[in-house]
Amino acid sequence: MQTTLHPTPARVFMNPTPMTPPLRLALQKSGRLSEASVRLIEACGIRFSRANHRLRALTDNFPLELLYLRDDDIPGYVADGVADAGIVGENVVAEKRKPVATLERLGFARCRLSIALPRSDAYEGLGDLHGRHIATSYPNLLSDFLAEHDIEASIHEISGSVEIAPSIGLADAVCDLVSSGSTLLSNGLKEVETIFRSEALLIAHPGLAPDRTAILDALRFRIRSVLQAQSFKYILLNAPNDALDRVTEILPGMKSPTVMPLAEEGWSSVHSVVNENDFWEVIESLRAAGAQGILVVPIEKMIL
Ligand code: ATP
Ligand code: ZN
Repeated sequence: MQTTLHPTPARVFMNPTPMTPPLRLALQKSGRLSEASVRLIEACGIRFSRANHRLRALTDNFPLELLYLRDDDIPGYVADGVADAGIVGENVVAEKRKPVATLERLGFARCRLSIALPRSDAYEGLGDLHGRHIATSYPNLLSDFLAEHDIEASIHEISGSVEIAPSIGLADAVCDLVSSGSTLLSNGLKEVETIFRSEALLIAHPGLAPDRTAILDALRFRIRSVLQAQSFKYILLNAPNDALDRVTEILPGMKSPTVMPLAEEGWSSVHSVVNENDFWEVIESLRAAGAQGILVVPIEKMIL
């Protein structure tokens, strides 16, 4: 048996020294990042109170203190060392331009920063942005984009509800975050240029002391195990022995697939892992190769 996937029990992390204060991790207090950030920490086997009226929470089985902040403040607090690390959108990190280290891309809160115009305006290309008055909460990212493309337009910085700016006469374009595009549509706007793509990041104070780095490394190890598990599925199937070479070629697994004989002569059971990205292609190739009784199950943690 070569494919071994043991679920990891939530173990108490051994603090480097008993006097080491917990690692301070900043999360968004309430908003689009909050729920997924909290779920990620919980999936790492770390227990804490979820009462969200609190500004900070200590965890019971890992040396971590959670600070709940506005997302805009997270890069600054991490850069200043008030928090050792944080979970925040890449868009905010890029906009704030604070000196922080990006440690992990977390794969959630995916969105894009786009320029949108009133639906009735003609748009044929970047030239149609000249002379516009663009409302945004991302003046730095927008001015970089405009400068890079030699577009002369003015930027009107507003901190929220950017999408209503054209309808109240405050601007004639917006540069705002979009995920499905439905907010733009319902405000009579159309997306014309994407200037930045974003997802949640784990960031940290650059040059953390070794005791902080040790805790952060342990947290990163758990986060990676959780993220890996989310992008893979465990797959079990039956195959006639004469199809095994082809099946094991399709399913390379973490090392190589586990192959076990079935009670029925001439058949084997094959266990492996498959990446979510090429999942359906793999399933189709397996069926074409003669695989039957294919079962696919989620993986809770994946330790590489
Ligand atoms: P805060 O009160 O913390 O300042 P906020 O209103 O600025 O919150 P949210 O709308 O909660 O921020 O968005 C937080 C982050 O979620 C964004 O910075 C971005 O990284 C991500 N995000 C994902 N999809 C979207 C979307 N469709 N619109 C806005 N943000 C999105
Ligand atoms: Zn914000």
